[in-house]
Amino acid sequence: MLKILAARFQQGFRTIGFPDKPPTIPDRLRGLPVIRPDQCRQSCQLCADVCPTGAIIPGVNGQKLQIDLGRCLFCGACAEVCQTGAVSFSNDPRLAVRQREDLVVGGSGIKLAKELDCKMFGRSIQFRQVSAGGCNGCEVDINVLTTVVFDLSRFGIKIVASPRHSDGLLITGPVTSNMKSATLDTYEAVPTPRLVVAVGTCAISGGIFRDHAEQNNGATELLPVDLFIPGCPPHPITILDGLLRLIGKIKEP
Ligand code: SF4
Repeated sequence: MLKILAARFQQGFRTIGFPDKPPTIPDRLRGLPVIRPDQCRQSCQLCADVCPTGAIIPGVNGQKLQIDLGRCLFCGACAEVCQTGAVSFSNDPRLAVRQREDLVVGGSGIKLAKELDCKMFGRSIQFRQVSAGGCNGCEVDINVLTTVVFDLSRFGIKIVASPRHSDGLLITGPVTSNMKSATLDTYEAVPTPRLVVAVGTCAISGGIFRDHAEQNNGATELLPVDLFIPGCPPHPITILDGLLRLIGKIKEP
């Protein structure tokens, strides 16, 4: 017992101060893209050619260069290949939005998620996690939110075992054919009003598996998604930031 107490004393308080204090994010994290359409050479399309998921909307035919974060894998290939610096990545992890179209970003940044209109979820919210063919990357980053470092439950947010005890779903993965009916049945088992959060690029658009015959391009076309959290996988702070915005515990841009 004394050893346990000594270890606790030595380790101190491990939970991060986010959202009251800014999180510590490594410089190498690829977060919100920085797009400079005025520096785009327009005709080269090197970024669009190298993108594995068709996430780049090239600056041609009078259109400005944009990236669809709902398809982006944050692999960084577009930034590496761009010879004019028109595409680069910041380490800003704030990426969650309420509308699918808000994930298409250009030179003016991103329109981050706003609070739910329904106040019912303000004080406590429970989610059932559905891994609908995910690779376990997004699932791990959700799971890590329940550890002492992030301590998700201090915000009244919990992951529960049964959809009947939950207020909504956290869906990961492209929703494979084998998981489609399980995902829809789990959604039906959640009492109304219910939420759907698509976590990760696969759940938003199918990601690297997009248009493959054995999946459904994510949850977006199957269910009414209330929050889109892009990333492959999203950083835990990206997920936490999105959930806190959804329930109104982060309001500023
Ligand atoms: S970082 Fe995103 S937009 Fe750029 S090449 Fe990779 S997947 Fe495509």
